[in-house]
Amino acid sequence: MSGLVIPGGESSVMDKLARMFGLFDPLQAAVRAGLPVYGTCAGLIMLADTVLDGMVGQKSIGGLDISVRRNAFGSQNASFETDLQVAELGETPVHAVFIRAPVVETVGRKATALATLADGRCVAVEQGNLLGTSFHPEITGEFRFHDYFLQKVRAAAFRH
Ligand code: GLN
Repeated sequence: MSGLVIPGGESSVMDKLARMFGLFDPLQAAVRAGLPVYGTCAGLIMLADTVLDGMVGQKSIGGLDISVRRNAFGSQNASFETDLQVAELGETPVHAVFIRAPVVETVGRKATALATLADGRCVAVEQGNLLGTSFHPEITGEFRFHDYFLQKVRAAAFRH
């Protein structure tokens, strides 16, 4: 496997199923060994070292030196879309869809914020081979985050 996208969904269910089917430990080992992974929304939660407002006993694979708060913007009804400036992806803003999305509440020393909302809250981060966004860029046909991720996958593949 050269890379993995953990999509949106429900992080507490992903966690439960990953543990039930014996996927959790191998995934965590792969991330620790440098597997490139892009997590969107629930996927970002799976990659966060610390999860706030998780379900009781909810675990994350971790890897990103961040804390994320689940459902930070409220319920499904409070889902929204907005344009984000992402310096790494050029001048054209990214149209981002937030669906019961998490927010990155703290960005640790090892992680880098890539995008913030107008109020300054962080919604996209990277750290080495890991990339995470609170939102879904793909829903609007925006593929620059995926391209950015593929650069990490290619770079990691060439190193091996
Ligand atoms: N609220 C979901 C969770 O906690 C994430 C929602 C999404 O992935 N769109 O995992």
